[in-house]
Amino acid sequence: MKRFALAGNPNCGKTTLFNNLTGSTAHVGNWPGVTVEKKDGVYKKLSEPIKIIDLPGIYSLSPYTSEEVISRNYILDEKPDCVINIVDATNLERNLYLTTQLLEIDVPVVVAVNMMDVLEKNGDSLDEKVLEKKLGVPVVKISALEEANLKELMERTFEASEKKREGVSILENKDLKHLVGDVKIAFKGKKVENPLFHAIKLVENDEIEAKMHEELLPMVEEFKQTLHDETFGNDIEAIIADERYNYISKNFSKVIVHSELTEEKKVKETKSDRIDKVLTHKVWGLLIFAVILFFVFHLTFSENLFFLGGLFKDAAPSFEGSIYEGLFWTDGGINSPGVILFNFFDMSFSAIIDVVSGAMASGLGEGHWLTGFLCDGVLSGLFAILGFLPQILVLFLFFSIMEDTGYMARVAFILDRIFRKFGLSGRAFIPMIMGFGCSVPAMINTRTLADEHEKVATIRVIPFFSCGAKLPILVAIAGGVCEVFGFSSVDLITYSMYVVGVVTAIIAVLIMRHSTQRGEAAPFIMELPQYHWPQFRALMIHLWDKAKHFVKKAFTIILASTIIIWFLSNFGWDWQMCEMENSILASIGKFIQPLFTPLGFGSQLSTFGWVFAVAAITGLIAKENVIATFSVLAAAIVAGFEGTEEGVAEAVVMITNTGISWPGAIAFIAFNMLTIPCFAACATARGELQKGTFKWTLLFWIVASFIGASFVYCFLSMFSVDTLAWAIPCTAVFIALGVLTVFYLRHYERKQDAKVA
Ligand code: GDP
Repeated sequence: MKRFALAGNPNCGKTTLFNNLTGSTAHVGNWPGVTVEKKDGVYKKLSEPIKIIDLPGIYSLSPYTSEEVISRNYILDEKPDCVINIVDATNLERNLYLTTQLLEIDVPVVVAVNMMDVLEKNGDSLDEKVLEKKLGVPVVKISALEEANLKELMERTFEASEKKREGVSILENKDLKHLVGDVKIAFKGKKVENPLFHAIKLVENDEIEAKMHEELLPMVEEFKQTLHDETFGNDIEAIIADERYNYISKNFSKVIVHSELTEEKKVKETKSDRIDKVLTHKVWGLLIFAVILFFVFHLTFSENLFFLGGLFKDAAPSFEGSIYEGLFWTDGGINSPGVILFNFFDMSFSAIIDVVSGAMASGLGEGHWLTGFLCDGVLSGLFAILGFLPQILVLFLFFSIMEDTGYMARVAFILDRIFRKFGLSGRAFIPMIMGFGCSVPAMINTRTLADEHEKVATIRVIPFFSCGAKLPILVAIAGGVCEVFGFSSVDLITYSMYVVGVVTAIIAVLIMRHSTQRGEAAPFIMELPQYHWPQFRALMIHLWDKAKHFVKKAFTIILASTIIIWFLSNFGWDWQMCEMENSILASIGKFIQPLFTPLGFGSQLSTFGWVFAVAAITGLIAKENVIATFSVLAAAIVAGFEGTEEGVAEAVVMITNTGISWPGAIAFIAFNMLTIPCFAACATARGELQKGTFKWTLLFWIVASFIGASFVYCFLSMFSVDTLAWAIPCTAVFIALGVLTVFYLRHYERKQDAKVA
């Protein structure tokens, strides 16, 4: 199968193009040995299927970042049949810098000029014939977002891939050309492939190249003495970079013809400016963001949608006990779309368990251990987790929409002003918001942060932005608390817990940036993308990726963990089946239980109190395990237990059988949100952090979770259930006041400093 590789600068639209070319065939993994994402997929609309490889986004082929090394090695060693170089039309000159280097390799290249829709909307135009003539390779204008011209791009790429191409250089300086020519001949003599590329890199003092061809270095060194440039002395690398940019601006600065502002554009610009005035306003912008977040959570988790339940109060008795009640109606409130989907899954799963357990009971007889193992151990643990998939997807749908419309960029912009006060740049916002999805890609994303200390601080707080896997913990326990203690707003608890995570992150960053991780945040410059409607296909691909990952995890690591937990909770140290009270798991749990006493779920609990300690530990493998553990244990505590009823039945069993107080239960959520993240996230953090920093990071997470959760426990214990509705917002307000005070003090301090200066 032919292989085409996509290469281009970060943000040139590579992912969008890749997704639209390969659709759902994409395969995501990691490049061997590093945590940089590797994607490949198949394009099927030509006469033969073509494999598309998405190389990491890069600015050059010099070996400064692992992304650059990966892309370079792939093109040189794996020899794709053609390289599609994507350049952003709205940023043409900067993007062509990479192109000038790609052209030096002996590989067919096609240049895809992307974002043409934006250019055309601005009334500008681009003459691709000029580009084609100068670059000597095919140039195709496309819009990855609007899927315009993709077929033509692929056809021309296919054509180009049929012919051999020899690398060409744009270097014009005579002396340089001469030297490169000499080195190239030397390389040719040694039968090195891509002699031109290697020659130029060697002349550029490229680290990798210098190591590989030490014998040629003296020749280059000698030449360097003779070459002297006014601006750069004899720094050859700088001279060559300068040559490239000069070449680009000399030849291509006029390729784009700018129009006068058209009437339509003026109207549009003022419209988008006017929207931005509100959305990026100092006060309103933040408020709007908070309100939007609240609606997102309300639509995902609420069982009492906009208090509309009252409208149907009179009709309620007529559908009592019917399927409508189970799906749409909870205790006098209308369910949100997220909860409706959740109920649907939940009902289907319990039906499956009923059928299986019924069939097994009639085949094996009542109470056979195998029935217990399959239904209580395997299926209920698995379903307890899969049941959350719809809510996770609904939440992600909202996040994806915010991102694709261009709103998230505005949020980054508003937050930059605030982040700066904490010693972070707005750039750190992107990895943090990604943390709401999964800490692993979020931590990898911190590579964009220039300051090492800023990177460390950001990686440490990323787990506080509660990820998708922690959502089941939130929903189930918040639901359990509401049911047992008679409180009506599950979403208020979940929302507040997200706030607790974010506030802890802010406080932690403040402390770190003033103690162990001092440093100045790099300036944050970013272009606000134009607003546009989200693309349905892109949204679906996003969700599909998420779903696939979640389901895979449920069937591997979580399934394995539930089975192990089932065995440990059903067998004693003598390897005989026994009551759970005497099981191996119980003895381990009881041993560590006292540790959690200050957090409200330790020694103060009754008989089964150790289950919280056990769940906290199993959560270290994967956060979904916390509820999966509850599910397995609930089946052991209550004979004939069925994990139905909004998925909180497990939590209800735990609360009623351990005598945990509601502040203790909420502190348990807080603990899980703040403590050491899952294995995968820890491994990523270890890879991203410099040597020796990781152990302190682990300690930081442990300390943060103990302090944070015991604070939540102590604070909430001051309120009674009746005032719970007030306690949670009050907590948020108090914390906010605390943060504002710190702010003010810092501001005041600065002012004083300025006065003194
Ligand atoms: P990558 O970093 O190169 O993978 O870039 P992405 O594919 O993530 O694209 C960056 C941004 O540009 C996203 O917001 C895309 O929706 C947007 N984008 C990509 N291609 C186009 C295009 O052809 N037209 C427009 N208007 N936007 C695009």
